[in-house]
Amino acid sequence: RRQRDPILQLDGISVSFDGFQALNNLSFEIGVGELRCVIGPNGAGKTTLMDVITGKTRPDRGRVLYDQSVDLTQMDPVAIARRGIGRKFQKPTVFDALTVAENLEVAQKGDKSVWACLRARLNSEQRDRIDETLALLRLGAERNRLAGALSHGQKQFLEIGMLLVQQPHVLLLDEPAAGMSDAETAWTAELFRELAGRHSMMVVEHDMGFVESIADRVTVLHQGQVLAEGSLAQVQADERVINVYLGR
Ligand code: ADP
Repeated sequence: RRQRDPILQLDGISVSFDGFQALNNLSFEIGVGELRCVIGPNGAGKTTLMDVITGKTRPDRGRVLYDQSVDLTQMDPVAIARRGIGRKFQKPTVFDALTVAENLEVAQKGDKSVWACLRARLNSEQRDRIDETLALLRLGAERNRLAGALSHGQKQFLEIGMLLVQQPHVLLLDEPAAGMSDAETAWTAELFRELAGRHSMMVVEHDMGFVESIADRVTVLHQGQVLAEGSLAQVQADERVINVYLGR
């Protein structure tokens, strides 16, 4: 894959719930290795957009194309995840009663029960990947601690690690900096800059300082449509965006 070729193409996506149009003929693209931020007021359709890409919600119309050739629109969520599209929800969902390293083992094996995963021995490549991930996420010193004993920020990092060990091509992250300290937010930005390029990323985020520190390009959603797209400075100077955020 070449950098900047499209990795995800959303074409004319519409979703309605009981007649309410959550996404309205929405189209945009994310490039290989790009870090795209999606912003927009509450109810703009950001979560629905993630749900469509991951197969949780079927669009009424439109198509999601992955890697310029794979139509995700009719695939189920498990098949989409297996294609290398990983999603992190806002609240961390780690296994509190397992250690940090065990959480990564379970995530890496993915398709078996937790206990089967923990009984199966890791091969050396799998062990290396877990060690690398722990180092990347600065969780090396915590590897044998129970995940339940981690800080909120550390749990967020562990969950990002649980995605990374599955070696996804695309990472979809919902408000990754929510509830983090300033130091953790700054470090998350650093981590994301490091991950971009190796992965294509779509980040839904409200914290504009965080958006400014990570995004290549920003897509502004409003009423289920793309209102503006460009650098953060460009979209912030856009009259339509200003009006939406100021409620005019
Ligand atoms: P955002 O994430 O930008 O806040 P959402 O995608 O969650 O926006 O929601 C877009 C709109 O669709 C909202 O008005 C919301 O109330 C509505 N909506 C989302 N999911 C459902 C659902 N399952 N049933 C009915 N309405 C929904």
